[in-house]
Amino acid sequence: VGSRLLAGLALPAAALALAACGSSERAATPPLVPTTAVAVKAHAPAASAAPRRVVHRARAEQRRALPAVLPERQLHVPILMYHRIDVVRSTLPAITRSLTVDPTRFAAQMRWLVAHGYHSITQEQLYGALEQGRRLPRRPILITFDDGYRDVLRNAAPTIRRLGLHATEYVITGRTSGPDPSFLAWSQLPLLEHDGIEIGSHTVTHADLPAVGASDAWHELLASRLALERHLGHPVQWLAYPYGKFDTQIEELARRAGYVLAVTTSGGVEQDASSPLALHREEVVDTSGVAGLGGILPP
Ligand SMILES: [Zn+2]
Repeated sequence: VGSRLLAGLALPAAALALAACGSSERAATPPLVPTTAVAVKAHAPAASAAPRRVVHRARAEQRRALPAVLPERQLHVPILMYHRIDVVRSTLPAITRSLTVDPTRFAAQMRWLVAHGYHSITQEQLYGALEQGRRLPRRPILITFDDGYRDVLRNAAPTIRRLGLHATEYVITGRTSGPDPSFLAWSQLPLLEHDGIEIGSHTVTHADLPAVGASDAWHELLASRLALERHLGHPVQWLAYPYGKFDTQIEELARRAGYVLAVTTSGGVEQDASSPLALHREEVVDTSGVAGLGGILPP
């Protein structure tokens, strides 16, 4: 799908869907938000990693730093990638449909995970297990949403909350409180956290990081983290690369920009402690159903 097609689309949401994940080409992006110096609040050290849901707003979180020498450790932790959770109407553009999972199918998948003994974990738990050797619950799994769509709050968060699960939504900070109501507003991010969905960065403009040059990539990584931390009042050190695009230079920039875990779109369910900024993910689409989850995950 070419970027020329993008300009012809009437629906902003559809355009973003294309720009966001349907195409490897760059699309028109909104102006960068200004980089502002942000004083991040001081936080008391966290107690131990709680196995149950943590309401992040009420919890003091410690800023983490990757060890100078990364450990050699492999963990079997599937990371699921979703985008939109909404009714899949036939009138939707094909690209939007391809990014959308029906709320009833999503709920069925979450119930399937619980019934099959999976334990959704937090980013902090994954970080602690990978880099510090902490124990994880049996059958750990990370549930993620890309792009910061508002339908996740409306259609996925109630299920996450009801089942006591954890998940992460990666937000494009330049879209938050922008003109397109498809995307979350800043004021809604704490609501997600309250329901058990923590917030990560998906950069400022959904830039193809290896393609934009080191200076722009640095801004995309740093400014999005600072904006999230300013609005949420705690460290945000989780990243998803737009289009899954990264290379070793981008990994290094991400580390220097303060991230300690970053997910890609490269498939696989084994995570490597020596590559915490290149975690593997498996995409779930509407047609995956619970059978598709069974295909991704071992019986
Ligand atoms: Zn995306």
